Amino acid sequence: MKRVVIVGAGFGGLRAARRLAGGDFDVTLLDRQNYHLFQPLLYQVATASLEQESIAYPVRAIARRWGNVRFQMAEVTGVDLANKRVLAEGGSIPYDLLVVAAGAQTAFFGVESARQHARELKGLPDAVALRSHVLAAFEHAALEDDPQKRASLLTFVVVGGGPTGVEYAGALAELIDGPLARDFSPELVDMARIVLVDMLPHVLDAYPPNLRDYTARRLEALGVELMLGAQVADVLSDRVTLSDGRTIPAKTVLWMAGVEPVPLAGALGVDRARDGRVHVESDLTLPGHPDVYVIGDMAYVEQDSEPLPQMAPVAMQQGAYVARHIAARAAGRAVEPFRYRSRGTMAVIGRGAAVARVFGLRLTGLLAWLMWLVLHLSYLIDFRNRLLVLINWAYDYLFFERKVRLITAPDTTRDGEWSVDDTSPAREASPERVAAF
Ligand SMILES: Cc1cc2nc3c(=O)[nH]c(=O)nc-3n(C[C@H](O)[C@H](O)[C@H](O)COP(=O)(O)OP(=O)(O)OC[C@H]3O[C@@H](n4cnc5c(N)ncnc54)[C@H](O)[C@@H]3O)c2cc1C
Repeated sequence: MKRVVIVGAGFGGLRAARRLAGGDFDVTLLDRQNYHLFQPLLYQVATASLEQESIAYPVRAIARRWGNVRFQMAEVTGVDLANKRVLAEGGSIPYDLLVVAAGAQTAFFGVESARQHARELKGLPDAVALRSHVLAAFEHAALEDDPQKRASLLTFVVVGGGPTGVEYAGALAELIDGPLARDFSPELVDMARIVLVDMLPHVLDAYPPNLRDYTARRLEALGVELMLGAQVADVLSDRVTLSDGRTIPAKTVLWMAGVEPVPLAGALGVDRARDGRVHVESDLTLPGHPDVYVIGDMAYVEQDSEPLPQMAPVAMQQGAYVARHIAARAAGRAVEPFRYRSRGTMAVIGRGAAVARVFGLRLTGLLAWLMWLVLHLSYLIDFRNRLLVLINWAYDYLFFERKVRLITAPDTTRDGEWSVDDTSPAREASPERVAAF
């Protein structure tokens, strides 16, 4: 049996493993974490809508149903292409065919202070930490007498007006206006600001103008301040500075401005595109290494002179293609080059509001929102997860309630220096402070 090693149990790797299941290959699936993560719903964990367990699933529980697929938790550090071995912590694993699908990480585009002080949303720990941080910021703001510090605690800056930034900003606005407005005093909730910053003059760059305008209007209706055409130059623990010199005092800065491939892409030592993705042939193999495939967010593939986007459907279709390619090669059959078939894109803004480009149609509002709900439910990996998500969504929709308002991660609102008036003498409890209790 040929040994196929797949690095990454995300959208691309898992799809490839599933399609190779039951075949005549000895498949080893490697991942540094023991679960598959449904990243598109991470922002709902971060805004107290969903428990983390409802969007993740243990890979062993999936792989044990597939006789010829074995899962191994390991951090892969490199690939010895000459000797056909995957280098992982604790040893190396030989392969006949290799599929690298290790995904992407947050790109800070040279703003090093953002790497240090901004928060990101790539994994479950990020989502739980962000939820805890935002809720802790409200708790501390309720006790804070210094108006500048209180304003900084209650200002949430989202950098990046792509789908993830839009979805998070909308969901945070609804968390504050719904459950938190009942938990805290009206004065405190009124002080809360969500600022969405993007260097482009619009949000949702990949969408047509009418869908962008709709999104901007809906976000503003939710109270999100749009700061468009503005570039972030510096992030400190309590403020953001824009390249035109403006500053926004904020204890929470969420960086959602883009992604770059994980370091493993560099460790391969092969030709890469300007954005760091690995150049691959039209059959997704590495140039000069026909036994190594690179797929998903790590791979740079052009189609009709445009690079394919880093999205889950691209990774999944590439995973399925690679499995087909491997089986066809073993059978001595030829396979046509990879071609991505887009079924559309969609982004949600808030309850009853989404934008969608599907089947050549441009949809907004309730219909787009319902399509988004159904699609995301159907893509979740397991019946139990779907049920959990459905129950939470229904509860949230009917009662405007989000029960996962739990501070479970270490309190990071106290991290770093205050550059505002830090040494002011303690004051008497203000009426707002009493009201907050
Ligand atoms: C917050 C967020 C929201 C998103 N929303 C959407 C959306 O709404 N729609 C959409 O289409 N796309 C969305 N995406 C993008 C989508 O999740 C990615 O395009 C998709 O996950 C790419 O699949 P992949 O298989 O390449 O990588 P991933 O699914 O990221 O999987 C990579 C796997 O590799 C593992 N790994 C990484 N490095 C190593 C290593 N060195 N050793 C071992 N294992 C390793 C990781 O643990 C991970 O399990 C979103 C992404 C994020 C972060």
